[in-house]
Amino acid sequence: MTAYHSVIEAQQCILSHVSKMQAEEVALHDALGRVLAEDVAANRNHPPYDVSAMDGYAVRFADIEAATADAPVRLMVVDDIRAGSMPQVKVLQGRAARIMTGAPTPAGIDTVIRVEDTEVDGDDVLILVPPVNGANIRPLGENLRNGEVVLSQGMEITPGVLAILAMVKQQQVSVFARPTVAILSTGDELEGIDEPIDENKIPDANSHALYAQCKALGITPTLLGIAHDNPIELRAKLAQGLKHDVLLASGGVSVGHHDFVRPTLDALGISMHFWRVAMRPGHPLAFGTTETGCAVFGLPGNPVSSMVCFEQFVAPACKSMMGYKKCFRRTITARLAHDLRDRAGRAHFVRVTLTRDETGYVAASTGTQGSGVLMSMAMAEGFAIVPADVESLNAGDMVTVQLLQGMDFQPEVDL
Ligand code: AMP
Ligand code: MG
Repeated sequence: MTAYHSVIEAQQCILSHVSKMQAEEVALHDALGRVLAEDVAANRNHPPYDVSAMDGYAVRFADIEAATADAPVRLMVVDDIRAGSMPQVKVLQGRAARIMTGAPTPAGIDTVIRVEDTEVDGDDVLILVPPVNGANIRPLGENLRNGEVVLSQGMEITPGVLAILAMVKQQQVSVFARPTVAILSTGDELEGIDEPIDENKIPDANSHALYAQCKALGITPTLLGIAHDNPIELRAKLAQGLKHDVLLASGGVSVGHHDFVRPTLDALGISMHFWRVAMRPGHPLAFGTTETGCAVFGLPGNPVSSMVCFEQFVAPACKSMMGYKKCFRRTITARLAHDLRDRAGRAHFVRVTLTRDETGYVAASTGTQGSGVLMSMAMAEGFAIVPADVESLNAGDMVTVQLLQGMDFQPEVDL
């Protein structure tokens, strides 16, 4: 139990100890960003019949096979079919029907010619291009086939998925519930945000940083406030937190004389799985579980460490509980703008900003990387990862960067 876990071992241990939440029903519009808890089958065909993919003319391929601009083929227009209306007549040899995008194709035809490739001449249409047999027709059921599973459990509900849910008329959607999360800051030196400034105290940043990190996952956590470094008060507040699915306690988790979090968690009967991870910042990190299924994280007190640990460990755990298959932040490869010196033996998460030049992404440190220097976190767009077995990297070296944000100033490609 005293050995250091690697980051990946710690992540695997955590994921093996958390389980998916129960399903709950939410209104369609509240389902965005959630994860489907059941398969969804189509309750109709869409399109319900073959429809035109273009505004144009529904024709018989054999009639116009030889059409060119110089020798157009003339057809008599016998119908005008709009989206939402039904064809009135079968299209016989030598005839065509004007048709709109999404309108059902009439009997007798096999091809649609787009309006740009035609010319109207009185009641006739001239076809000016050689056709492609079967072109511009969307077949019945191309989008959805009645009875077929179209969305499966575990899919994240994006706007595109939500559109399909709307098409199959799911006004209520079954999704995995979000865990309840409690947040507790610990330390005699801490001052609450609503307390007057005391020069001898330190404002509690962690409660609010962790709150915001939870919100970014779609979870609204409960703030339990500040517990002093006193085993009785700490025990009462931790016990309150254990009623939630996840408890985040920051500070007091190291080996200092007043670090009571781990012994108190032990006294509360929590099975501790590890408490040291070979990473910087953030190495005192305790993880345990209760019999009732609460996942307990003892996060380091330093605000940057606490936030980095949240991203590496708490966020994947919460994501996994909410049913996401992709629980880890996306990474890119970037070129380092400058040297990075490091001690070997611990994975280092360096807070960086990202720019792009003609060769790709460039990562530059956000400044002093001390674990108490919150500004390095406030400016960060990502974490550049220096693996545990790497001691230093040089300017120009390629480095993996975990993205904290997804948007950019301008499109990457000229469109
Ligand atoms: P600890 O892990 O309790 O030894 O705390 C490490 C450092 O983080 C100390 O300098 C604490 O003052 C600071 N710290 C602990 N908790 C918080 C918090 N909630 N907000 C800001 N700083 C904190
Ligand atoms: Mg402390």
